[in-house]
Amino acid sequence: MTRQRPKVLIIGGGFGGLFCARRLARTDVDVTILDRSASHLFQPLLYQCATGKLSIGHISRPLREEFARRPNIRTLLGEAVELDPDAHTVTALRPDETAFTIEYDVLVLAAGMRQSYFGNEHFAQWAPGMKTLDDALEIRQRVLTAFEIAESLPPGPERTSWLTFAVAGGGPTGVELAGQIREMATRTLANEFHSIQPQEARVLLFDGGQRVLKSFAPKLAQKATDTLRELGVEMHFGVHVTDVRRDEVTVTPKDGGPARDFATRTALWTAGVEAVPFARHVASTLGATTDRAGRVQVGPDLTVTGHPEIFVIGDLAGRDKLPGVAENAMQGGLYAAACVRRDLSGRPRRPYRYRDLGSAAYISHRNALLQVGPLRVAGSLGWLAWGLIHIAFLTGVKNRVSTVSTWLASIARRGRYHRAFLLGGADRPEQRYTYTNWDPEEPFRHIRGTVRH
Ligand SMILES: Cc1cc2nc3c(=O)[nH]c(=O)nc-3n(C[C@H](O)[C@H](O)[C@H](O)COP(=O)(O)OP(=O)(O)OC[C@H]3O[C@@H](n4cnc5c(N)ncnc54)[C@H](O)[C@@H]3O)c2cc1C
Repeated sequence: MTRQRPKVLIIGGGFGGLFCARRLARTDVDVTILDRSASHLFQPLLYQCATGKLSIGHISRPLREEFARRPNIRTLLGEAVELDPDAHTVTALRPDETAFTIEYDVLVLAAGMRQSYFGNEHFAQWAPGMKTLDDALEIRQRVLTAFEIAESLPPGPERTSWLTFAVAGGGPTGVELAGQIREMATRTLANEFHSIQPQEARVLLFDGGQRVLKSFAPKLAQKATDTLRELGVEMHFGVHVTDVRRDEVTVTPKDGGPARDFATRTALWTAGVEAVPFARHVASTLGATTDRAGRVQVGPDLTVTGHPEIFVIGDLAGRDKLPGVAENAMQGGLYAAACVRRDLSGRPRRPYRYRDLGSAAYISHRNALLQVGPLRVAGSLGWLAWGLIHIAFLTGVKNRVSTVSTWLASIARRGRYHRAFLLGGADRPEQRYTYTNWDPEEPFRHIRGTVRH
C-alpha cells in the first residue's frame, strides 16, 4: 500500500502563500494554493498601476505560471468560504458560485486584509480603496476621467470639484497616491489639455494623526511632508473623513470643532484595513481571539491554540504587533513551510521570530525614503534604493525586466504609458459618473456650457 503524502492547503497566493509554497516545492507533500484571484499581486506597486505608470501585468504574475514546473503544487481559483476543522476540509466557491471542497492535513491561512471603512461601508461606492487590481483600475479610471470631464466643462465650481482629489489616510499608500496624482498633473498631463490646466488640480490629503507616515522616523516623515508640500499636496492633520458623498467629503476635527465639507468628485480611501471575511469565519469556528481589525491570535509557532495543523501568517497573524508588511508575510510563509518540514522529519518546531529588514516609501520622482535599523536615507539615494528593493522583490524575471524598462522610459519622457482605462459596467453606476444622472426623458439637461477651443 502506498503512503498518502500530507496535504498542505494554502489559502491566499499573496506574499505569505507564495513564499510558503515555494519553500515546499521540493518537500514530500502535496500543496494546493487556493486564491480568489488567479495571480500573485505585488501590492506595493499598486499605486503606480492606479496612476498609469505600470500595467496590471507588471505587478501581477499568474500563480499557475509561477508553479508550472512544480509537480507537487497545484493552484485553484476559488474563494474559501467555510472551514470544517473536524473533517479537515475547506469549502470554496468558484467564480460561478458553485462550491467545491478541499481536504487538508495542514492549513496555512494567508488570506491577508481588505480595506476597512470602519463600519461606513457605503463610503466605498464613492471612495474606492486600494488592495486589489480591480481597485487600481477603478482608481485609474476615476482619476483620468475626472481630468477628461473637467476639460469639457466651463470654468466654475463644478469644474473645480472635478479637479479636486481627496485622499483619506496619510500612511504610505495615501502619501504615494496623493504624490502621484499631483505628479501626474504637473509632469505628465501638463501640456495635453486645451481648456484646463491640469497643474491646477488640488490634491487634499486627510489624516487623523499629526503627521504623515507614522511608521517612519519623525525626521524622514518631515522630509516627506516637505516634498509633498513642494509638489502641491494640501495636507490636513488631526481630522477624520466622516462622510463621503458623490460630490463632497466631510471632514471632522478629532478634538471637536465644526465639520467641514470639501467639494470633490474623486475621493480615495486608504485609511484602514481589516481581516478578510474568511479569516473572521475561521477565528469564530475555532474559537480563536481576534483583535479589533480581525487579526487572528496565534501562538509562538503561528498556529491557532489547540490546532497545531492551522497556521495563520502574514497580515492576518495577530501576535506581538507583527507589522502588516510584505517582509513579515514572506518570513511567515517560509517559517510555516519550515515547520511542515520539521514535523515530517520529527524535529521540534522553533518559535517564529520576525526580522525587521526596514521599510521604504516612494514620495515623488527622485524622492523616496528608506529606513533600515539606524540608517535613514531620503531624496535621490533613497529613490535609487527604493527602486532596487522593489525590483528585487517583484515576482518573475519578465516582470522585473519590463518594469525597469517602463520606468526608464517614463523617467526619460515624463510619460505614463498605461493610462488606458475601462468604461465600467452600466449596472455599476458608481463607476460611471456621467451615467448616474442620465435621464433619457431629458437627455441634455446636464450640458451647461459650450466647449471652446
Ligand atoms: C497599496 C499597498 C501598498 C503596500 N506597500 C508596501 C510596501 O511598500 N512595503 C511592504 O512591506 N508592504 C507593503 N504593503 C503591505 C503588503 O503588501 C502586505 O503586508 C502583504 O501583501 C501581506 O501579505 P499576505 O500574504 O498576508 O496577504 P496578501 O498579499 O494580501 O495576499 C492575500 C491573498 O489571499 C487571497 N484571498 C483573500 N481572501 C481569500 C479567500 N477567502 N479565499 C481565497 N483567497 C483569498 C487574495 O486574493 C490575496 O491573493 C502594501 C499594501 C498595499 C495594499
